[in-house]
Amino acid sequence: MNDGSIGLLRQKLGEIADVNSAIALLQWDQETYMPPKGANARGQQLATLSALSHRLLTAPELGILLEQLRQRSTGLDPDDAILVSETQYDVKRSTKLPESFVHEFAEEQSKAFQVWVEARAQSDFRKFQPNLERMVELLRRKADLLGYEGSPYNALLEEFERGMTAEQLRPLFAELAEQQSGLVKQITNAHRALDTNWLNQEWAPAAQWELSLRVLREMGYDLEAGRQDKSVHPFTTSFDKYDVRITTRISSKDLFSGLMGSIHEGGHALYDQGFLDKDRRGTLASAPSLGVHESQSRMWENLVGRSLPFWKRCLPALNELFPSQFERVTAEAVYAAVNRVQPSLIRVEADECTYNLHIILRFEIEVALIEGTLKVSEIPDAWNAKVKAYLGLDVPNDAQGCLQDIHWSHGAMGYFPTYALGNLYAAQLFEKILEEIPDLWSRVEAGDFAALLAWLRRRVHVYGRRKTANEIICEATGQPPSAAPFLRYLAKKYGALYSL
Ligand SMILES: [Zn+2]
Repeated sequence: MNDGSIGLLRQKLGEIADVNSAIALLQWDQETYMPPKGANARGQQLATLSALSHRLLTAPELGILLEQLRQRSTGLDPDDAILVSETQYDVKRSTKLPESFVHEFAEEQSKAFQVWVEARAQSDFRKFQPNLERMVELLRRKADLLGYEGSPYNALLEEFERGMTAEQLRPLFAELAEQQSGLVKQITNAHRALDTNWLNQEWAPAAQWELSLRVLREMGYDLEAGRQDKSVHPFTTSFDKYDVRITTRISSKDLFSGLMGSIHEGGHALYDQGFLDKDRRGTLASAPSLGVHESQSRMWENLVGRSLPFWKRCLPALNELFPSQFERVTAEAVYAAVNRVQPSLIRVEADECTYNLHIILRFEIEVALIEGTLKVSEIPDAWNAKVKAYLGLDVPNDAQGCLQDIHWSHGAMGYFPTYALGNLYAAQLFEKILEEIPDLWSRVEAGDFAALLAWLRRRVHVYGRRKTANEIICEATGQPPSAAPFLRYLAKKYGALYSL
């Protein structure tokens, strides 16, 4: 084995990364600028490139090269050793699913998606039920093919939150559900309506756009290595750490949705811009889990972007960009409005106090489906009962209930928990940040986010996939992931806002 073999590995991984970046660029274009009639050809382009990427990753020569490198891994530099083991992990997972299964799954995905769109429009779960039944069957087969210990759900969870298990999530989520639904009841019973009437006016889209760019620049998002565009659903995509793009959507009726979307995606983008130069075009330049990635977006959006010092910082810009509309509005009033708690039926509109409850009920239903203790036909009843128990609301129809999310039509079960974990990781990291940067809030009020970003770079971003989610949280905070910091944060913030 000559020393060129690690070079050969890097070359092969570079080729795979290039194909994947081309796929991501085509997808970005599809969501932003592609004319509608381009959809057909784009579908074919994406299918061809995806097959090519899969073929390159599962090529026998790559497997042999990795195995040879693994056997002499004690002689490798630690960075190269982890590059080998992480790539081997990816290759093993992709080769466990036979080509025929991948094909069948993809076909069912596109059928299920189309039926879901119609079923949702007609608010008719029974229409979607046969597709979802086939999808759950496929997911159970997928779990068997991938292999698991404990619940078969763990095999699916692994794809999004590696190392996490249903057994760990159950007690964690049970505590969150009890505490958060208790807090929401307290808030509802307090009958203290925060004034949001001043929000009911038109907010010039151009001014909103300018505001979002100013905030992104202050956060440290490098617009020479990124850009912001508009799309129906905001997202972040990355082709390289020097080309990380975000999108947002602007509504003239809603002052917050565009800006908070930009801050959220900006948090994701800062992570991707923070990988190490030496990891470019390789396996390590990505987050260890979606929960860790989501911790960054939610920290910027909620812990920073929904704080009072942040709105004190923004008030002069709001006055300048929306002349006369902020003459009688204080930073405290904006802070109260952006943090209003109101149990709602729709997950993506949920506030910080209720958001995790939406996730927990989805998690409970998913686990029961995959473990075979709940039938697909029983979903609407199970859903509605859980919404009543956790949020105190009656679900009027399936469109506002179990048909609202796209995830199940794509066969993405095991994904939802990462949103709640992102909230928990964010609060846990942020508690440590406030300890280590005691003047953080005066910095935020002055528009100085450099110390915060430097902390995140040093303790989270630079590792890429070198550390697991658990290791990142443990090493940065001295504690394993837990719900306690998030619950402390909610109790303090909303206790004050609602005078509990
Ligand atoms: Zn996100």
